[in-house]
Amino acid sequence: MTRETDDKGGRLLAQSDVTLTHPDRVYWPDADVTKEGLAHYYADVWRFVEPYVVNRPLALLRCPEGISGHQRFFQKHAWKGMNAHVHEIADPKDKGGDKLLCIHDFDGLMALVQSSVLEIHPWGSTSKHWEKPDMLTMDLDPAEDVAWSAVIAAAQTLKQRLEANGLSAFVKTSGGKGLHVVTPLKSKAGWAQVKAYAKSLAVQMSADEPDRYLATATKAERHGRIFIDYLRNGRGNTAVAAYSPRARPGAAVSMPLGWDELATTTGPTDFTIRSAPDHLSALASDPWDSFFDAAVPLEKRA
Ligand code: ATP
Ligand code: MN
Repeated sequence: MTRETDDKGGRLLAQSDVTLTHPDRVYWPDADVTKEGLAHYYADVWRFVEPYVVNRPLALLRCPEGISGHQRFFQKHAWKGMNAHVHEIADPKDKGGDKLLCIHDFDGLMALVQSSVLEIHPWGSTSKHWEKPDMLTMDLDPAEDVAWSAVIAAAQTLKQRLEANGLSAFVKTSGGKGLHVVTPLKSKAGWAQVKAYAKSLAVQMSADEPDRYLATATKAERHGRIFIDYLRNGRGNTAVAAYSPRARPGAAVSMPLGWDELATTTGPTDFTIRSAPDHLSALASDPWDSFFDAAVPLEKRA
C-alpha cells in the first residue's frame, strides 16, 4: 500500500461520524479479517467503489456473527437500530410498499460495516433514473468441471459481441465462482429493453456454441458448460457491487480488472480484502477509470 493511499484512507476513517462498536469482531475467521479490517479496506478503495454503491437501491447481505455464524440476512429494507447514514428511499413504482435502502457517502458505507453488511448488491440503476439502467451485468457461472481459461474465453467472446453492438465491456471477478462482464449504459433504455438485449446476447451465444454455453438456469444440464445468466438485468434484480467482498471463506472481493490483466488471473478468488488495495495502488491506472465515460445508449433492438 502506498503512503498516499494509507493517508487518504486514514483521513476518511478519522473524519467519519460512524463509531464502530466491537472493532475486533471477526467477520472472516479464516482470513483473519475483523470489522475494523473491513472498514480499513473500504477506506483504501473508497474512490474506486463510490460510483458503484452510492445513490442506488441496495440489497445487503448481513452476517452479524461473521461468515461462519448462523445468522445471514439478505435485506432490502430498514432494520431496527439502523444507522442514520443509511437512507430509506421509496420505490416510485411501489409507493405504498416498504422503502428501499441507499447510501450517499463514506459514512453510509461505514454504517453498513457497523451493521455487519458483508456483501453489497446494488441495482443497475441510480435513484436519479430508476427506470433507466446505467449498467448491464452478464454473469458467467461455470459448472464445476469447467477450466478457468474457458471462463476467461467466455468473457472475451461477450466483450466482442457487446463491442460489435457499439457497446463497451468491462470485466470483474465475482469473488465467488465466475466472472461478471459489465457494460455502462447511458440511461435511455428502460428495464424491459435492457433485459431483452441481455437475454438475446445469452441466447445467441449458447445457440452458436451449445457445447460451451447455455442460457437457461437448469443446473442438471450445466455440466461442462458455462451458464450465461442475464437475469441480473430485470427491474429490482441486483448483482454484487464492484469491490464488494463476499461473505465466503477467503474474503475474496469482486475485483474489476483490465482485459489484459484477466489473462493472468488464476481464478475468481484471486483478489481479496487483503490483496486488492495493494494491487490497485501498484497499477499505473485504474482499468475501470473510464467506465461511465464509455457509456452509450442501448439502441432500439427487436
Ligand atoms: P458466483 O460467482 O458464486 O455465481 P455471483 O455474485 O455471481 O457469485 P450469487 O452470489 O449466487 O452470484 O448471487 C446470485 C444473485 O442472487 C445475485 O443477483 C444476488 O444479488 C442475489 N442474492 C445473493 N444472495 C441472496 C440471498 N441470500 N437471497 C436472495 N438473493 C440473493
Ligand atoms: Mn455468478
